[in-house]
Amino acid sequence: MSTEPQHERIDMRWSGWGDPDAAHGLPGGVKLLLTAVLGRVPTARPAPGTADVTVTTPPLADADLAALAAVVGAAHVDAGRETRMLHAGGKSTPDLLRRRQAEQVAPGVVVLPGSENEVAAVLAVAGERSLAVVPFGGGTAVTGGLEPDAGAHRGVVSLDLRRLAGLAALDATAQEATLWAGTTAPAAESALGELGLELGHFPQSFEFATLGGSAAMRSSGQNSAGYGRFDAMVTGLRVVTPTGALDLGRAPGSAAGPDLVRWFLGSEGAFGVITQVRLRVHPVPEVRLFDAWSFGDFATGADALRRVAQLGTGPTVLRLSDEDETAVSLAQVGNIGKALARGCSAVVLHEGPDGLAQARREATTRVLREAGGKPAAEKLAVSWDRGRFKAPYLRDALLDHGVFCETLETATTWSNLHALKAAVTGALTDGLAQEGAKSRILCHISHVYPTGASLYFTVIAGLGADPLEPWGRVKRRANDAIMASGATISHHHGVGADHAPWLEQEIGEVGVRMLRAVKAELDPAGIMNPGALLGSARAAG
Ligand SMILES: Cc1cc2nc3c(=O)[nH]c(=O)nc-3n(C[C@H](O)[C@H](O)[C@H](O)COP(=O)(O)OP(=O)(O)OC[C@H]3O[C@@H](n4cnc5c(N)ncnc54)[C@H](O)[C@@H]3O)c2cc1C
Repeated sequence: MSTEPQHERIDMRWSGWGDPDAAHGLPGGVKLLLTAVLGRVPTARPAPGTADVTVTTPPLADADLAALAAVVGAAHVDAGRETRMLHAGGKSTPDLLRRRQAEQVAPGVVVLPGSENEVAAVLAVAGERSLAVVPFGGGTAVTGGLEPDAGAHRGVVSLDLRRLAGLAALDATAQEATLWAGTTAPAAESALGELGLELGHFPQSFEFATLGGSAAMRSSGQNSAGYGRFDAMVTGLRVVTPTGALDLGRAPGSAAGPDLVRWFLGSEGAFGVITQVRLRVHPVPEVRLFDAWSFGDFATGADALRRVAQLGTGPTVLRLSDEDETAVSLAQVGNIGKALARGCSAVVLHEGPDGLAQARREATTRVLREAGGKPAAEKLAVSWDRGRFKAPYLRDALLDHGVFCETLETATTWSNLHALKAAVTGALTDGLAQEGAKSRILCHISHVYPTGASLYFTVIAGLGADPLEPWGRVKRRANDAIMASGATISHHHGVGADHAPWLEQEIGEVGVRMLRAVKAELDPAGIMNPGALLGSARAAG
């Protein structure tokens, strides 16, 4: 087992998602579907390359670069144009649309610390020289939390944590692993897999998201029904703040005052830098049993999922697509005829030791049948599993063709779920119609709890050549509808800059004061990610 920080990773495409070699055009089936829904699909206009645009923010001054190089070494301070551009923000659709503009902003430098001491030293230099620091994990944020926002400071240091990667410690008896924060989710699974262990955090951004970013954003993976949200997996954290370091989480349960680990889960880089994450792990599942189910309508399916979550029969994945999303998914697996049929499909996964997983599957099956579900072709579940990390590449192909595609998510109680779905769908549909756009709104239940569930919406719309401003107006309506429905502004994408205008409505004025007080204590100069969480709020778009 290597306990040394490991340095490996490819950079994502600057103007799109993921591995540059995996980018692809628009599949024929999707083109047909889009033509039916939105009308003519324009010819592709690929996004510009880094050389085709102007970066308006200069690199930091030589004296700043020298001070940073003095603490991490010159090889780990990169003020080159290309590297700064690769750290210019996250991967929401508005982020990607902004990358298609002629003028770009970027941080003043990218710094790669190689130890906790170096992180602390960089924060000290930044404080002395009035530079903002934006921690950068995998760069997959979708709520504006990676914007190079200097706040009241002279410039921005993007603190890329990729050198702080790998397994730091393992307690095999306790099934607890400590990993460096810059470890990507695949690298974590691969290091743990060698030891017969698994974390089980599979967000759709799995290929690039890091553990530090997942903790900072309170991420939730697709196997959350069984393994919990990322924050539920965290048993401890090491954090470096501008005023000192913390090593939190001593015991699996503690009554030593409020739980400070939780103060940093969701802190979005605004309180300090998470350097290590201690996590609950489990043995690699012996079996993985996929099932697909169909329900006459969304209400019947949602009720079935509620019963499974409340009985606790133990699936690790439990998802239900609404009628429109089911139709689109069927079209994508090449079943365009069936796409016209009504109904909703669900994907269920049981995994673990063979006998136990089988017994859980049988228990879930009984509940789903009694609730009106019918077993569906297994290939639906298998194709969901195979394609689950590929969907983000499709968004790039859609944007190339001028088709707007974005997602948003929220959560509420089971009793409020349908009212919430209707309110958000209505806000999106009406808003898009007012912008003169044809659209299709897809929705699924992606994460379940005994008391409620999250709803994940996908918006596909013909929003014209410059969708940023119209989408900003539509997203504001959707966020207002979420708030008016009593739901959360985000189940797992976080606050960032985009949702900051709605944070006070959710946690109240006292809640915001508490966050500000903690920030003032840990980061009195306000250098830590000034644009995120509490910072210069930007409404989406
Ligand atoms: C296509 C796509 C699919 C997605 N699917 C999911 C999903 O299924 N579930 C889900 O939860 N999210 C999803 N996301 C959102 C995103 O992947 C998550 O928020 C993820 O947790 C971000 O991790 P990251 O390492 O990329 O962090 P980054 O994007 O690099 O950073 C996110 C925020 O955390 C801060 N930060 C990062 N690392 C640290 C650190 N070590 N210490 C302190 N602050 C830090 C940053 O400053 C920033 O504010 C998706 C995003 C995309 C683009």
